[in-house]
Amino acid sequence: MASSNDGKTYIVEHLDPELGPWSELEYICIGQDSQKAGSRFLLSSLPDEFRVPERLGKLEAFTPEKRSVEEIAGDVKNQVCLLDPAAKQDLSPEDGKKFGVFLFGGILGDDPPRDRTSELRKKGYEGRRLGPVQMTTDTAVRVTRMVVQEGYTLETVPYLDHPDIKFNEHESTQMPFRYVADANGKPIMPEGMVELIGKDADKTIDDMF
Ligand code: SAM
Repeated sequence: MASSNDGKTYIVEHLDPELGPWSELEYICIGQDSQKAGSRFLLSSLPDEFRVPERLGKLEAFTPEKRSVEEIAGDVKNQVCLLDPAAKQDLSPEDGKKFGVFLFGGILGDDPPRDRTSELRKKGYEGRRLGPVQMTTDTAVRVTRMVVQEGYTLETVPYLDHPDIKFNEHESTQMPFRYVADANGKPIMPEGMVELIGKDADKTIDDMF
């Protein structure tokens, strides 16, 4: 696995017991973005019963892995950078020359954060932070790619913190995460995510009655 500013390998170590619909949309989005950027996306530690979503499986850039990141990249540990909200050092474009592999926790965001990234930190990878605010996994991969492949610094990425997502005329919900803003100032989210958030909110309201 070469370390250069060209294609990178993004590994998401799946740490949740199952693949929920939120993670599924996030993983499809990471796969599509990685493919466009000439990079690879490995989803590791998949349980035996894992079914690869069709939209992900057809991407050339994508590899599903039952093995853990230690089994895949244990012999090139110094090339692997763990994106870690508790790391002492922030990610910079120079890290694109130092590392070829970027590792993320496949964990749904939680509020307040439970620091499940610690499961990967314990394994001793060099860590980098993406600033102080919790991002969704697809946002964390997006920001990393912008920094190590496109030359942004963390300060020049256009962010949106805790945006309100309006899913119909009367209802909205505030997302407790940081996103990247698109050219229209809207948060970049996986395709289908706004609809899913809307459905989940409907379910919660139904459960109240
Ligand atoms: N609540 C979390 C926890 O338990 O650690 C954060 C999970 S976050 C939704 C999923 C992954 O995105 C993390 O494991 C980490 O790799 C990456 N990530 C998210 N925000 C980050 C930040 N500010 N700095 C570095 N990595 C971040």
